[in-house]
Amino acid sequence: MCDYGGCQQPARPDGFVYGRAYCKEHYLLGLESAFREEVSLLVADKATSKFRSLLGRYAEGVYSARDEPMPEALAGTKLRDRAENIRYRENAITFMIERHPQPIPIQQHWRFDLEDKVFTLISEEPTLLDCSEAAVILGKTEQNRTQIHKARQNTGSESFRDCANKSLV
Ligand SMILES: [Zn+2]
Repeated sequence: MCDYGGCQQPARPDGFVYGRAYCKEHYLLGLESAFREEVSLLVADKATSKFRSLLGRYAEGVYSARDEPMPEALAGTKLRDRAENIRYRENAITFMIERHPQPIPIQQHWRFDLEDKVFTLISEEPTLLDCSEAAVILGKTEQNRTQIHKARQNTGSESFRDCANKSLV
């Protein structure tokens, strides 16, 4: 049975939120109240695993209720496992997440607005490579000019030229 006050509906099979069960109608409300509780506990640099898990599930619930896809790379399990530097700021949650397009990983900085309940990409930049990392990538992809071209675009040609000057690439 649904744990929402006064509700008589059966709980949905995947409607569990930390020990409480909710029907289809009240699942998102239950998720939101658990999420809000964790937000109020969120201290800088101290995002609990419960908060991480709820952020992803709550955002997915909200997006799904609006019939909108989650932004690429922000699936709930990825938020739970890979979001870093989670902070509460001006009625929003901000965090970093590393994405892994080939061949250079990218660091993205996101904001989840608690009022509008939308994600906004604040900034993104390639993970900085040192010369030996660049050499490994180029070595691996020697036969693949497209990837090398992308690597140059992503890291900035300067860093590759610097590496070349040092005869590392
Ligand atoms: Zn209910």
